[in-house]
Amino acid sequence: ARAELANLRLAPAETLDGTAVELLANIEMPSDIDDVVEASADGVGLFRSEFLFLGRDTLPSEDEQFQAYRKVVSAMQGKPVTIRTMDLGADKNARWMSHGVADNPALGLTGIRLCLAEPLLFRVQLRALMRASVYGKLRILFPMVSGLNELRQALSQLEIAKDELWEEGIAFAENVEVGAMVEVPAAALVVSSFFKLVDFVSIGTNDLIQYTLAVDRSDDSVSHLYDPLHPAVLKLLSLTIRSADKAGVPVSVCGEMAGDLRLTRLLLGMGLRRFSMHPAQVLAVKQIVRGTRLDSVKDLVARMLRTEDPDKIADLLTQLNAAPG
Ligand code: PEP
Ligand code: MG
Repeated sequence: ARAELANLRLAPAETLDGTAVELLANIEMPSDIDDVVEASADGVGLFRSEFLFLGRDTLPSEDEQFQAYRKVVSAMQGKPVTIRTMDLGADKNARWMSHGVADNPALGLTGIRLCLAEPLLFRVQLRALMRASVYGKLRILFPMVSGLNELRQALSQLEIAKDELWEEGIAFAENVEVGAMVEVPAAALVVSSFFKLVDFVSIGTNDLIQYTLAVDRSDDSVSHLYDPLHPAVLKLLSLTIRSADKAGVPVSVCGEMAGDLRLTRLLLGMGLRRFSMHPAQVLAVKQIVRGTRLDSVKDLVARMLRTEDPDKIADLLTQLNAAPG
């Protein structure tokens, strides 16, 4: 089966009815890039930048960050590399973080909130990202955005970083695409308000499930309730994908759902055309895409979205994945 999958490396990722699908990879370290190239992914849909900040006592300098980003962007040779700005706090704590331990860290100073609370730190990263942008196709992605004003503030920090570089005569690309993660239910519900300000959005289902269902993603005692197929999760996913489609804004899923082979057809049927997943999943997902006829899955997916009964959803998913094409 492995050899069979390897044969798919150069095959186009398209459905039986000829619709193209982008298959991107998630990475956590620059050295993961070899696996991305090996899988012939269309690019990096999520480069988690936390590795630069965790497990050490000092902050990474602008130059250290720049070198790491440049390495990945250069290695991808013009294919897109989506780098997420530091997503610390909650389940990803750095030693230097001095904000104290909150009672509810997952609802506290995390992601973009922490960046906006520490704008000087944030701008070091934004400068490093912009400096790396001249080496290929770099995209910037903001995590844990919950509303429009947060997005405006993040973008204004990016403008300040660009102005600084400009004044210092340091080169950066003019056309860097900027996106927001949709991983807080509030963001999914107001995502249309983001579309004037961003070039793309990316749905982080790992956190979207956690916050929608009030289930800690790392608490074993409630892991049986952590359900990607909960009708509330499906509604938020579908709403986000449909809204983005209507606005002509590219939308991806970069949470674990994107690499789950049981869910590929479901996401295709919802209209998703950009998936980002662990590099090891890319070829297996491609195989399912190539064996799927969109026309024959759409009706079942529409029925899944109309019911609020989890048993019916499970039953429809079985039918969906058993359908011949
Ligand atoms: C997510 O929340 O789905 C996501 C991709 O981000 P992380 O898993 O790094 O929180
Ligand atoms: Mg997340």
